Amino acid sequence: MARVFNFNPGPSTLPLDVLKIVQEELLDYRGTGMSIIESSHRAPEYDEINESAISLAREIFGLSDDYHVLFMTGGASTQFALIPLNFLSEGQAGAYVDTGSWSGKAIKEAEIIGKAYVAGSSKDGSYTFIPKQEQLQIPSDAAYLHITTNNTIKGTQWHYIPAAKGLPLIADMSSDIASRQLDYSKFDLIYAGAQKNLGPSGVTLVLIRDSLLKKAKSGLPTMFMYKTYADKKSLYNTPPSFSVYVLKLVLEWIKGQGGLAGVEKVNRAKQERIYQMMDLHPDYYKGTVQKDSRSWMNITLRLPTEDLEKQFIAEAKAAGFVGLKGHRSVGGVRVSLYNALPLEGAQKLAEFMDAFRKKNPA
Ligand SMILES: *Cc1c(COP(=O)(O)O)cnc(C)c1O
Repeated sequence: MARVFNFNPGPSTLPLDVLKIVQEELLDYRGTGMSIIESSHRAPEYDEINESAISLAREIFGLSDDYHVLFMTGGASTQFALIPLNFLSEGQAGAYVDTGSWSGKAIKEAEIIGKAYVAGSSKDGSYTFIPKQEQLQIPSDAAYLHITTNNTIKGTQWHYIPAAKGLPLIADMSSDIASRQLDYSKFDLIYAGAQKNLGPSGVTLVLIRDSLLKKAKSGLPTMFMYKTYADKKSLYNTPPSFSVYVLKLVLEWIKGQGGLAGVEKVNRAKQERIYQMMDLHPDYYKGTVQKDSRSWMNITLRLPTEDLEKQFIAEAKAAGFVGLKGHRSVGGVRVSLYNALPLEGAQKLAEFMDAFRKKNPA
C-alpha cells in the first residue's frame, strides 16, 4: 500500500487510523452482520453513533448543553441560505465581513432572501488580509454578524474573534474547525462542511446556541428550519449516516490526539515548516497574503513563473505530494495542511521545496 501525502483542499486527507477502523467495520458493523451503510438510522447502533458524535463535539469544542449539535446536509453552501432564511426578519440585514470567495457567496444568498450589510472587507486589498476590529462597522440593528474564519481559497485566517457589538456571532468554519484552541462559546452559530477537517463530504456540522435557535423564524419548510434538526437530534429524516459515523471516528481521533491542544501543537509546527521555507526565500516562494493574516490551514504562494509553478506541482506529485495546485480562480500553489496531514508531510514538503529551488533557479 502506497499512501501519498495528500494536500487536497477538500475533500481531503483523513487519519489513517480512522480509515482502518472504517475498513475493518465495513462488512460487519460490530456483530450486526451488516454494514452501517445498510443499517437503519432508527437502529440502536446508529443511535449510539449519533449520541456519541453529539457529546464528543460538545466535549472537544468546550460547549455546554446550551448548544445543539446538528448533522445537516447540503454542505456549507446550503447554510449560506438557511442562516438568512431563519434569522432575518422583514427588512432586516445580516452583517457580513467579506474576506473572499466563500464570504461573497454567503452574502449573495443573504441578498436573495433579505438584505446583507458589508461590515468589513478586504476586497480592495485583493483579499490578502483580515480586517482588524477597528476597521469593522457593525450596525447594531443587524440580525447577526457573519465571518468566515479561514479563507480556503485566498489563504487568510482570522487570528482573533471579533467583538460583535451584542449581535449573535455566526461563523463559517468549514476549513479550520477543530484545528486550534479557540473560545468556541463566543460564537452563537458555527457551521462547517465536514470534508476538510472532520470527515467525508455529505454532512455539515452545525453548532447552535439555544438562545439563537429560539429567535429563528417559524413557518418555513420543515427541512429548512434548524429547529427540526434540534428537536429530533438530527433524526427527523434519514441522516447522512455513513458520514456521521466517520465524523464520530474523527472526533474520537481528535480526542486521542489530546483534543484541540494536541491538534493545535502539530498544526502550529506544520505551518511553521512551510512558512519558514517561504520566508528564507521570499523572492522564490512568494506568499500572497499579509503575514499577520496567514492561514495555518491553506498556504497560498506563487513561484517566479507560471512554468515553474507547473513544474513544481508535477514534480511534487511524482514525489508523492499531491493536491498542491492553487484554486482555479487564483492559480499558483496552495498547501493545505488540514488536521490529518501528518507533521512528516509538511517537513518533507519543505525539504522538497528547498531542493526544487536549488535545482531550478529563477
Ligand atoms: C469548502 C468551503 C465551503 C463550501 O462547502 P460545501 O460543503 O462544498 O458547500 C464553504 N466555506 C468554506 C470556508 C469552505 O472552505
